[in-house]
Amino acid sequence: MKKSIYDIAVIGAGIIGLATAMQLTNKFPSLKIVVLDKENVTAEHQTGHNSGVIHAGIYYKPGSAKASFCYTGNKELRQFCDENDVPYKMCGKLVIAVNEHEIPMLEELHKRGTANGVEGLQIIGKDELSEKEPNAAGLKAIWSPNTGIIDYKKVTESYAGLFKKNGGDLILNSKVKSLNRENKNIVLETENKTIKSKHIINCAGLHADQIARLMGHDAGIRIVPFRGEYYSISKARGKLINGLIYPVPDPAMPFLGVHFTTRIDGTVEAGPNAVLAFAREGYSKFSFNLPDAFNTLAFPGFWKMSAKHWKTGLAEQYRSINKNSFLKSLQYLVPDIKMSDLTEPGSGVRAQAVDKAGNLLQDFSIIEANSAIHVLSAPSPGATSSLTIGKHIVELARKNFEL
Ligand SMILES: Cc1cc2nc3c(=O)[nH]c(=O)nc-3n(C[C@H](O)[C@H](O)[C@H](O)COP(=O)(O)OP(=O)(O)OC[C@H]3O[C@@H](n4cnc5c(N)ncnc54)[C@H](O)[C@@H]3O)c2cc1C
Repeated sequence: MKKSIYDIAVIGAGIIGLATAMQLTNKFPSLKIVVLDKENVTAEHQTGHNSGVIHAGIYYKPGSAKASFCYTGNKELRQFCDENDVPYKMCGKLVIAVNEHEIPMLEELHKRGTANGVEGLQIIGKDELSEKEPNAAGLKAIWSPNTGIIDYKKVTESYAGLFKKNGGDLILNSKVKSLNRENKNIVLETENKTIKSKHIINCAGLHADQIARLMGHDAGIRIVPFRGEYYSISKARGKLINGLIYPVPDPAMPFLGVHFTTRIDGTVEAGPNAVLAFAREGYSKFSFNLPDAFNTLAFPGFWKMSAKHWKTGLAEQYRSINKNSFLKSLQYLVPDIKMSDLTEPGSGVRAQAVDKAGNLLQDFSIIEANSAIHVLSAPSPGATSSLTIGKHIVELARKNFEL
């Protein structure tokens, strides 16, 4: 029988919600904890549609939460996987400067990664680059041996299994529709049941701002969904790529640029781009959801963001509808890639937090307010950092919920 009053209800059974819930049950075994998700399986949204990379922590501003959580998260994740038989592979990654003008930025990235403590980073020249990736173009590259690949759905299943083993309740098919305070508890109305809890941890990903507002908390940010579209490279031609090949990214944007990713099952993907989506779960080019579109378009921060980044936005839209343009971005890195190599399109949607001034939030944002913790921004490398983010939330809960 399900418990009627929980100590903590976690909304969202993605990798962050379950990393948090599992660690809460490890640290506080006597607490009653429930995880709710609207879908019928765990990891159905960002976690189940990501690139499956264990990032090393190269890109992020030194001193940011992303830099430190990714560095620690990478190690904690690998230790967890070793202890719980979740397969992963440290295949390493190349960030390639194809043209002279990209070299200063490549060197800057190398400095950043080194300042972030990332081990083993090296700048390599043309010859070594060709040894690692014979089909890649490029003058120089950063070689990162501490980057790997993994299936984050499997990681999330493993977190869920341990959470349930520790006595936690995982309730799927339960969309949280309202949250109201009643004495010292919060009443969660879902489509099919009513649950009471003393505290809430909001890990609702693409819907995190909505859940915060249902609790009367408006932090002045909106989640603006950005779809990332990719193609699978046909099996025979996937052999052109050995591991992970990335371009030098635009430092103004939180996205890494279209790249080649070898998946843990050996297949190779090319992408993802970053196009504005008119639905929070808009996985196709034609997805449209009126309330979601209104939520974006009625937010002044969206228009300020558009004024700042309209050129990049238009270029991304063009590349989305013009496969030739997508192909050209890929050929910039691997010239031998052909149109016929791009098969099976797929996509994921990123929950990009945007503030009122139109800034794209680059860092993680996790806040406590009135018996609740809200994860308002957990973009990439959120999956790599999941255990460290979870540990941080457990500590916030210990202090603020007086556990
Ligand atoms: C295209 C793409 C590529 C990426 N690549 C990488 C990568 O290679 N490496 C990396 O480290 N990170 C990567 N990321 C980032 C990473 O996937 C995210 O940081 C991480 O998955 C966030 O997890 P989450 O649990 O916060 O969100 P989600 O996985 O989105 O989980 C949120 C959950 O909340 C549920 N939910 C929402 N609203 C409600 C409600 N009202 N009631 C009940 N349940 C609700 C949803 O159903 C969902 O299951 C990528 C992301 C994307 C989109």
